[in-house]
Amino acid sequence: MAIDIRTSSPDETLLLGRRFAALLTAGDIVALAGRLGAGKTLFVSGVANGLGIAARITSPTFLIEKVYRDGFLPLIHADVYRLGSVGEFEDLELADEGADGAVLIEWGDAIADSLPPDHLVIRFEIDGDDRVISFEPHGRWSERDLGALA
Ligand code: ADP
Ligand code: MG
Repeated sequence: MAIDIRTSSPDETLLLGRRFAALLTAGDIVALAGRLGAGKTLFVSGVANGLGIAARITSPTFLIEKVYRDGFLPLIHADVYRLGSVGEFEDLELADEGADGAVLIEWGDAIADSLPPDHLVIRFEIDGDDRVISFEPHGRWSERDLGALA
């Protein structure tokens, strides 16, 4: 079941990412969907913070992922926002790369038929200064306690 959380400031989105980090384990695939400026990168910064990663998170250049290994769990951050077709995901081999860590992929609105069955979609919607952030579990993600985020 999807969970919706409304944040009303950048700090709240950062904090939500930090709380979300506690749910992550190795091999996780998380797709962050929403238009530019919706808060995806800010959320990933919160996740990195929650994982104890010291580096500041910036958007990886188009199609390039960045790997952070100094936290409790390796974090692979990719930004494929401008990727034309979700089918290209397989070419990225992000899942392989992230086998020992968590993969967070910033995406546009198209969400991936080609993602593995077990994945989480986090959808970011802009509502004035607020953001409505929906967590949509697929496959075994349904067994995670997303309710703890609310
Ligand atoms: P994206 O990666 O989705 O393009 P960013 O995280 O880079 O988005 O940027 C989000 C922008 O929206 C930032 O400039 C941030 O300050 C602003 N913002 C305003 N309100 C919020 C909010 N509630 N949550 C997240 N970001 C917000
Ligand atoms: Mg971004």
